[in-house]
Amino acid sequence: MEPLCELCGAQRGLVYCKSDAARLCLPCDAFIHSANALSRRHLRALICDHCLTQHAAVGCLDDRHSLCQSCYRAGPTPAVAAPAIATTP
Ligand SMILES: [Zn+2]
Ligand SMILES: [Zn+2]
Ligand SMILES: [Zn+2]
Repeated sequence: MEPLCELCGAQRGLVYCKSDAARLCLPCDAFIHSANALSRRHLRALICDHCLTQHAAVGCLDDRHSLCQSCYRAGPTPAVAAPAIATTP
């Protein structure tokens, strides 16, 4: 089950606002955080696409995927390619 935006409840929540303690979809995030100068300073983080609970720490712009530290370390998932890290033999 995908976590939905807590504001509109219609779209998938992709962004977590720590200041509001709320999960928001992109349109609601843009709407809420353009309201005033104070809300523009809210710290927001993408939500991990894999576990959907942690704040994402690593983002892949090509795949539009974001992963938290633990999922990133856990290794590649079917949807996310392994990062190109040179390993010494
Ligand atoms: Zn929304
Ligand atoms: Zn906020
Ligand atoms: Zn995760």
